[in-house]
Amino acid sequence: MPPVIDPRICKVCGKCADICPEDVFFGSEKKQVPVVSYPDDCWHCNSCVYECPVEGAIKLRIPLPMHVVYKPGTK
Ligand code: SF4
Ligand code: SF4
Repeated sequence: MPPVIDPRICKVCGKCADICPEDVFFGSEKKQVPVVSYPDDCWHCNSCVYECPVEGAIKLRIPLPMHVVYKPGTK
């Protein structure tokens, strides 16, 4: 899943859009909440989340198939 920005706490700094190596936030305006224009281009690198100065302002939902499932007793 692409990133989701909470507009209530986003400080509109634009760092997430600047750091993204893809065109996910293409067309976002400076000093406005970034828009997720191309969600399918997101490859879940997490850079936008790490770069964001506000805890919880941007969240990434990792697709279920990408989760590593821990099973006790298996290698
Ligand atoms: S997780 Fe990576 S590719 Fe996806 S929007 Fe954030 S910076 Fe861009
Ligand atoms: S980095 Fe965080 S605070 Fe800055 S524009 Fe993106 S979501 Fe908003």
